[in-house]
Parts: sequence; C-alpha cells; structure tokens
Amino acid sequence: MSQVERHSYDVVVVGAGGAGLRAVIEARQRGLRVAVVCKSLFGKAHTVMAEGGCAASMGNANSNDNWQVHFRDTMRGGKFLNNWRMAELHAREAPDRVWELETYGALFDRTEDGRISQRNFGGHTYPRLAHVGDRTGLELIRTMQQKIVSLQQEDFAETGDYEARIKVFAEVTITELVKDDGRIAGAFGYYRETGRFVLFEAPAVVLATGGIGKSFKVTSNSWEYTGDGHALAMRAGATLINMEFVQFHPTGMVWPPSVKGILVTEGVRGDGGVLKNSEGKRFMFEYVPEVFKGQYAETEEEADRWYTDQENNRRTPDLLPRDEVARAINSEVKAGRGSPHGGVYLDIASRLPAEEIKKRLPSMYHQFKELADVDITAEPMEVGPTCHYVMGGIEVDPDTAAASVPGLFAAGECSGGMHGSNRLGGNSLSDLLVFGRRAGLGAASYVESLESRPTVSQSDVDAAAEMALSPFDPPAEGVEENPYTLQNELQQSMNDLVGIIRKSEEIERALEKLAEIRSRIRNVTVEGHRQFNPGWHLAIDLRNMLMVSECVARAALIRTESRGGHTRDDHPGLDAQWRNKLLVCSAKDDDPVVPGVEVTPKEQLPMRQDLIELFELPELEKYYTEDELGSHPGRTA
Ligand code: FAD
Repeated sequence: MSQVERHSYDVVVVGAGGAGLRAVIEARQRGLRVAVVCKSLFGKAHTVMAEGGCAASMGNANSNDNWQVHFRDTMRGGKFLNNWRMAELHAREAPDRVWELETYGALFDRTEDGRISQRNFGGHTYPRLAHVGDRTGLELIRTMQQKIVSLQQEDFAETGDYEARIKVFAEVTITELVKDDGRIAGAFGYYRETGRFVLFEAPAVVLATGGIGKSFKVTSNSWEYTGDGHALAMRAGATLINMEFVQFHPTGMVWPPSVKGILVTEGVRGDGGVLKNSEGKRFMFEYVPEVFKGQYAETEEEADRWYTDQENNRRTPDLLPRDEVARAINSEVKAGRGSPHGGVYLDIASRLPAEEIKKRLPSMYHQFKELADVDITAEPMEVGPTCHYVMGGIEVDPDTAAASVPGLFAAGECSGGMHGSNRLGGNSLSDLLVFGRRAGLGAASYVESLESRPTVSQSDVDAAAEMALSPFDPPAEGVEENPYTLQNELQQSMNDLVGIIRKSEEIERALEKLAEIRSRIRNVTVEGHRQFNPGWHLAIDLRNMLMVSECVARAALIRTESRGGHTRDDHPGLDAQWRNKLLVCSAKDDDPVVPGVEVTPKEQLPMRQDLIELFELPELEKYYTEDELGSHPGRTA
C-alpha cells in the first residue's frame, strides 16, 4: 500500500486558470473550505497567455452594443450549434464580471474619457474586448490571485490561519477522481516534484483544467493542455459534447521551426493588420462565405474606412470568424500563393506608425524580434493556422455548471456547449469569469444541500496509486514503449489526419493509428524514480491525450457536414439536419488504462422563443430546417 497524504475540503477546484480561480473565489465567499490544485506553478496557468482581451458588451466604444448583439454574434460564430442558454448567460453577465474584476484591483486600458477601452475582434459586431495591451490574461490572473490573497487575509484575521478556507496545492497533478455510491468523493494525484501521492476528500470537484491542444503537433497551447479534465470526467462517468470542433487559430508563427504554432494575436488584425498572399493581394475578400455575405466589406477602401467609421462601413473580412480565416489561409497556401515557410503574410507595418504598433502590441513586437528576428514595425509577419482551442468539453447544466455525475462541476475550456462549433476571440476570458463563478456557486449549493458526506474507499485509493505507478513496471510481454515516441506519433496523426481539413479515409486512418497506440500504451515504461520525472509525467498524461483524441476523431467521422471548427473535404457544406445534433462521447467500458469511447447523437433543446426572435428570418433560414422555423413570427404573421 502506497503512502498517501490526505486532506479534507468542501470543494476541490482542479485548475488555477481564470475559470478555476473564479470558482475558488465564489465557493470561498459562500463560506466553504476550498483546495485549488494545479499542475504548474500557481499563476502560470494557460490563461496568462491570453493576449487580445475579454469580450463584454459594455458599449464603451460603441453605444449600440448590448447583450443581445453579443448573444447574436456568439451564436453566429458557433454556427447556431451553441448551447443557447450558456450563450445567453454569458452575454448578459460578462459586463458585470469585467466590472467586478476592477473591484478586485484590475486596471484595464482606458478610452480618452476614462472608460474601459474595447477593441475589435473577429466576429464581434462592435469593439467589445476589454484589454490590457496584449497581456489581458495576465491581468486577469494577477487580479484574481490578489483577491484570493485578500480573502486569505480575512481568514487569518478571523482564525489565525491564512489557509483556513483556501489552500493552493501547486505542481500537483490530479490523475483520478474517486466516487462513493455514484457521487464524487474526492480527487487523487501526485506532487510533481517528489512524486508523492495526495488524496483530497471532498464531496464536490470543479474541473477547470483547460484544453487539449497538446494532442496536435502544431499548437499555441502549452505543455499542460493534455485534456486531463476531459478524460477525468469521462472516466468518472460524465459525458463530453462537441469534441469534433477544434479551433485552428488562423495566425500562429510558422518560422523558425522551434516556435511554430505560437500565437499571433487577433488583436493585430483588430488594430488594422491585414492578410496578404505572396502576390501582395489582400485575399480575404475572396473568402466571404454565403452565410456572411452582405455583412462584410467588399472593397479594400470600405474595409479601411471601417476602422475609423463603423456606422457607415462594413467590417473587413480579415476579421471573419477564425474558422473562415484559417480555411482561407490554408487554401492560399495550397494554391501556391503562400510565404516561403508555408504561411501567408500579416502586415501591420504598412498600416500603423512604428510607435503605435509598439504601444498597442508590445508582446507581439518582442515575440517576433526575439524569436524570429523580425521587426513587425518594418516588415510583415509570416503566419499560418495553429491548433488553439477546443470547443468540445464536459457536458454541463448551463446555470449550475454541474456535470451528469453528482458532485462534479466544470467550467472554462474543459467544459462544452457555450461556443458551439466555433468560439469567437475574446469569448473565452469572459466565459471563464461567467461560468467559473457559476461553477463555484453550483458546487457550494450542492455541498450545502448534502445530508451526508461521501467517503473514499481504500481500494479506490490503492487502485489509483497502482495505475499511476504502472509505467515503472516493465511489461509482462511485448516490447517496452517510450512515452515520447507514442506522444509524437499521436500528435502527428491528429495533426495530419484530423486537423484543419478532414475526410473520412483520413479520419479512419487516424482511428487505426489511435487503436495501435491504445495497444502499445499498456507497455509504456519509464526509467528512474518518482522525483521530478518528466517521462513518468508524460506517461500519465498520455492516457488522457489518447482518450480525448479518440473522442475528436470518432465524432469527426460521424458528423458528415462542415461547420465551424470541423471541416470535411468530403462533406463541404453546412447541413441543416445536423444543426441541432450534439455528438455525446462517453466511456463505453471500464478499461482502467484507457476506456473505449462511444459516441451517440442527441438532439439539442430548441432555442427559447424570445431568443430566436432576436434573429431575422432570412438569417435563420441559412441554418435551420423548414420544420424548425414553423413557429417563428416571420412565418406565422
Ligand atoms: P487554464 O488557464 O489553462 O488553466 C488550466 C489549469 O488547470 C492550470 O492551472 C493547469 O495547471 C491545471 N491543470 C490541468 N490539468 C491538471 C491536472 N490533471 N491536475 C491539476 N491541475 C491541472 N481567450 C480570450 O478570450 N481572449 C484572448 O485574448 C485569448 N488569447 C489567447 C492566447 C493564447 C496564446 C492562448 C493559448 C489562448 C488564448 N485564449 C484567449 C484562450 C484562453 O486563454 C483559454 O481558453 C483560457 O485561458 C482557458 O482558461 P481555463 O481557466 O479554462 O484553463
């Protein structure tokens, strides 16, 4: 029996990014004892990398903006597959969540008359992204950490113990959720530095573990994004939705190879940067799809005028939703009009004075100068698509963030539904705040309603410890497998075969490869000890990466249409019959290493009448079936 450190809390929040920290604050404010556990250092979560801003219809830059416009933009961006209730809550509550951050000490950039400044981003009708230069995520995390410290100081004043109600467990990876009679009973993990095991006994767990980008070779995501929360939830019996929808951000760095995939913020285009091909042509005018026809500028002159006069001009197609721009870049490169290193050009140098570029986009200036020796104030950047965000995630109740397993909650990128088939830039930071808060509230209400606390059985703890240690045991038969080799093969297959453009033969080949990796993963063997051992950490993460990759590939094969972040070369159009169908992934067996994945279609709830009436009938006709539109007032009038 392994030695296991034990702690008891009311709520365990797994993940210290924006969603996790907001959940911690809320649960603590309800008086509960909360543990926050994170795989990396506290303050190093992915959220700090967010550059462009946080979308909220405060109407500071254009007073026509309001929650209804934001809701419409979000639904359009997601091609009407979004969970509309989540999109509604998000659009209604985001402004309050941004204001609230300022009460915690955040300081957003200002307009000349002192209001929070808001910038343009793809798919947003009005300038809507509250920002702090191009380091918005950093400010979000900094402020929420500051709020947590202030709550800890209050707790000290009351109890003499700073950690009486909130304790941070940094560099701890959760490997398993434990249950008691079908309810969540806690979370099991290990300290990355020492390898020692730790058990958190708690009736409620909030998963806020972020995304899955590390399952793809070229990604803007950091090492942490191995789909842990997605896989933990599935192994505990919860379901995932929308896993076929993976966002490839149109502008990642393409050169040099060591930095391929690193993000170039959409703020560059929001602030005036334009995409050009090798012939110097602004090609995005050629790629406005049918569903957005009439909404975007048709000439360069109109597009340029829009930056200063949005009332009388239509927006530039450089700011179409991300899926459209990524596909356009892909097509230009395929047609031989790409840049020398397989991307296209993004030009801000000829559009803004050098000092303005350095002021508005300081991180981008340094990123290109230091990593690629490119001065973006003097020459164009080379950019191409990079795996950036997963729309798919844990299926939750929109109001409480509860997953289908009692006691399990999820928020942020690891939850699903809010963004439908494609997320608009800036809608993640606001999502984290809105649903992080709701998850904290949901977990608190759940814990308060319990009549008895669940208990953790020793056999579950032993099984979790045994599973975590299994890579140290050489296989009974077959050859030993190296975790880095398997990771590399998995990433390459997902990138090449289930990437930005998909077709059935390729997805089937990916599934064959994943099945092969599934058989080899049992023989993954690592050397050395439990003290900081990256090979062992990867061996543990690989189980999760494989499981989420299977979800993506299986769902991608079943959805025979192209929508948002899922483009099928063999089924190129939107299909209205697919619009209200969710593909639900669940574990189909109890395989302790990597359970098999089952994908089942399920109907989305029809949109509430007052929300559907926010859209004009001709727009809905592009997405909905005739039957679905029967009760729209435009039809019944
Ligand atoms: P994260 O911030 O990633 O936090 C995840 C946490 O979970 C981490 O603390 C991690 O250590 C922990 N964790 C993971 N697995 C485990 C485990 N097994 N055990 C314990 N802990 C675990 N969105 C916008 O809205 N606007 C932007 O401008 C923007 N810019 C972006 C720029 C970049 C470069 C990238 C990559 C993304 C950007 N996004 C942006 C997207 C946005 O940043 C993310 O979607 C968001 O930050 C995710 O937040 P989160 O709280 O869900 O997860």
